[in-house]
Amino acid sequence: MIRLAVIGDPIEHSLSPAVHGASLDYLGIDYTYEKIHVKPDELKEFAKTAKTSLDGFNVTMPHKLNIIQYLAETDSEGEYYGAVNTVSVKDGKLMGSNTDGVGLSLALNRMNTDFKGKNVTILGAGGAANAVTAAAFKNGAAKITIACRTQSKAEALLESLKRKNSNALDTLPKTKITGFSDTELSDVVSEAEILINTTPLGMEGVKDNFKSFDFLGSLPKGALVTDLIYKPQKTGLLKNAEKMGYAVQNGLDMLIFQALAAEELFLEKKLNMQDVYKAVKEKLK
Ligand code: NAP
Repeated sequence: MIRLAVIGDPIEHSLSPAVHGASLDYLGIDYTYEKIHVKPDELKEFAKTAKTSLDGFNVTMPHKLNIIQYLAETDSEGEYYGAVNTVSVKDGKLMGSNTDGVGLSLALNRMNTDFKGKNVTILGAGGAANAVTAAAFKNGAAKITIACRTQSKAEALLESLKRKNSNALDTLPKTKITGFSDTELSDVVSEAEILINTTPLGMEGVKDNFKSFDFLGSLPKGALVTDLIYKPQKTGLLKNAEKMGYAVQNGLDMLIFQALAAEELFLEKKLNMQDVYKAVKEKLK
């Protein structure tokens, strides 16, 4: 039996138990998967007990950065993304990784696309934008534009990625940062081939939303609009984009694929990702 969990604060609404449960059931693996509410001041103690009580755990807000100090090792993905969402317990040691980037890339593949050579526009510059921007850098985007209201966050994010990729300076994407007004959004999306919303605007339980969706009218034909939100299944952004004829994708595919990539680490074996994805998606309907 494999003992797994997800930790966060809050944690009640996490879909991770449902996603991992569906996949582990499909794979016929005997498991437990708990939702554990860990407050920031409880993280150290949790990390200590997890060495014997669990075989692995997923990490969500607000612990993705703070967990790193309690790990014996962080692999190259964890280092690159500067955050850890997956911890495996091996011989009593905590080993950290990050599967958000792989999860997003596999999700884009479901829409028959990837970052390579693309103009990518990212809305927001918080934790999720960090993973999305790093994945776009790593996977060869031609240009990355971040539109956000606190531009210093986008600057710090891009600077850090440029430093990490300094060995490949001649192949780095062009970058641009702009504000979040309707005019600025119209301007930046006009060359986007992939538009990714990483803000919580339009999420269930969040009052704020985009002031207007008119900026979508500037998107080039054939662009993909991805929203990392999966509740509701279609945010206002996706509904409007779909109405205008764009391909749209919510955050569920990324959530599923990052979970499956984490399971490969927990189980120490390769999964047939597409088969397991289909089984999980069917179960979550
Ligand atoms: P976060 O770190 O708080 O970042 C949120 C970003 O949105 C910040 O840039 C913030 O700007 C911006 N923002 C918030 N309200 C805004 C507004 N009214 N107008 C303009 N910008 C606004 O949050 P996060 O962890 O990145 O999560 C963001 C979203 O991604 C959530 O909906 C989360 O559920 C989703 N997510 C999905 C997945 C998945 O697997 N599908 C994974 C991770 C996250 P300021 O910095 O100016 O506040």
